[in-house]
Amino acid sequence: AEARLVAVRATPISGRLTLLVLRDITERERVEEMRRDFVANTSHELKTPVGAVSLLAEAIESAADDPAQVRHFAARMQAEVARLSALVTRILSLSRLQAADELRDVRDVSIDEVVTAAVEAHVIQADSAQVTVVRGGTKGLWVRGEPQILTEAVGNLIANAIAYSPEGSKVGVGVKLDEDVVEIAVTDRGIGIPESDQHRVFERFYRADQARSRRTGGTGLGLSIVKHAVQRHGGEVRLWSKPDRGSTFTIRLPLTEAPDLEGVRPKPRR
Ligand code: ADP
Repeated sequence: AEARLVAVRATPISGRLTLLVLRDITERERVEEMRRDFVANTSHELKTPVGAVSLLAEAIESAADDPAQVRHFAARMQAEVARLSALVTRILSLSRLQAADELRDVRDVSIDEVVTAAVEAHVIQADSAQVTVVRGGTKGLWVRGEPQILTEAVGNLIANAIAYSPEGSKVGVGVKLDEDVVEIAVTDRGIGIPESDQHRVFERFYRADQARSRRTGGTGLGLSIVKHAVQRHGGEVRLWSKPDRGSTFTIRLPLTEAPDLEGVRPKPRR
């Protein structure tokens, strides 16, 4: 879209100079439209679990004389509330990433630390799915960014790789340098994604059919968070996948020189 610049602030600096602050309003309109869509589909997605919680509350009330029934409905209610809470957390992450504000805590980030934190956050999920997460590749690479956001992005890819893999299989998390781009690749040998869905899986709330029938727990927001997180860091996400063969999601981020830590400057190994 063509940029339309408007002056949002004019500050006189001296008799002859004025500082003009310009803003691209086309971009602003686009962001506003995205925000409206987001609110619309988010409210829709929240209605389902909220409705379930409300029905379960009624069921508990009418089963008051039957302790076993009450326990059963209460357990289902807890599961719904957990799902609702995960959904709200993801909605907040995504809306923050989509907002125009600057990233909050930008610094030199060690990819080793990001990958370690992301893998550790999914140990329990991997164990209960009986999937082994295997790490490998180049060490000592750094990027500029917000560590928590990058960890969440890599973590979402690991969570999906585990969720869409068969028991007993392996998920690989590999790091390598491609020219001056750091690649973090998460590979699984799971159900894969049909070609017709591959460009849509990064959309908010989009879930491919096999995934929906296999696992009802997903929110359809994970990959959209990954995409926005990586784009905010000047990177991109690539996807290779074949149904029944598996998938590889690759996060590509611009390399930064390693920071000077206590006088030693570890150079990235190629
Ligand atoms: P969800 O919460 O449904 O996993 P995501 O945004 O993370 O939401 O993913 C969107 C959809 O992309 C999933 O519902 C699934 O259809 C597909 N998908 C994502 N990762 C994988 C994977 N590793 N293997 C197979 N399908 C995947």
